[in-house]
Amino acid sequence: MARLDRHYCDICKKPLPSMGYYRLKDGSICASCSRLISPLLSNRKDKTSDYIRRHIEYRKENAKKLSSFRPSISFGYDKKIYIDPYISGFVVTRRKEEEIILDNPDIIPLNQVVSCDTNIKEYKKEEYYITEDGRKESYFPPHISYYYDFKVEIELDSEWLNKIIVDLNGESIAGRGSVRYQKCTSIAKQLKDTLMVDKKRMPFEVYKREKDIFRL
Ligand SMILES: [Zn+2]
Repeated sequence: MARLDRHYCDICKKPLPSMGYYRLKDGSICASCSRLISPLLSNRKDKTSDYIRRHIEYRKENAKKLSSFRPSISFGYDKKIYIDPYISGFVVTRRKEEEIILDNPDIIPLNQVVSCDTNIKEYKKEEYYITEDGRKESYFPPHISYYYDFKVEIELDSEWLNKIIVDLNGESIAGRGSVRYQKCTSIAKQLKDTLMVDKKRMPFEVYKREKDIFRL
């Protein structure tokens, strides 16, 4: 006799295991359906099963489109932004360029970019010296070093994604006047100019280049 209290995935309708499934706003989703959701989609437990069903359809279409995605510009360190100027779209992924297709990253049209701003986080670190008997001592006056991390926040006007955060540098950057700091500042500006290109109505040729990589 079938168990009356058995629950089903609201997407594929298969029975759910007792553990290893996720809640949606008005139902549940099994682990294998949940793997079809974009990793950039936030607050999935606040989404309805109808929304997730449409989202998964969109993700299947996205996978088909990716086969013709040809990036020629990339930014970022760990998570990278690859831009295909021919279709005016970009993807964000940790994968290398030749492996982009493996994770089915969302192709985001440039005209969905609302803003692209860089937050520069500052860290202070005191430098010490070691005395002859091996103790750590402060200098007088204290030697303070400053380190920086560049985080780009891209806000989107999209049915599926709201915000993407990408690190521009790997290891923290030492010193505001350093070459790496200046380079990262110029990469942040270049990224903003490229992603906001539709907003500025810049002619297409201005940003179309053969192969540009902006990374530290
Ligand atoms: Zn399912």
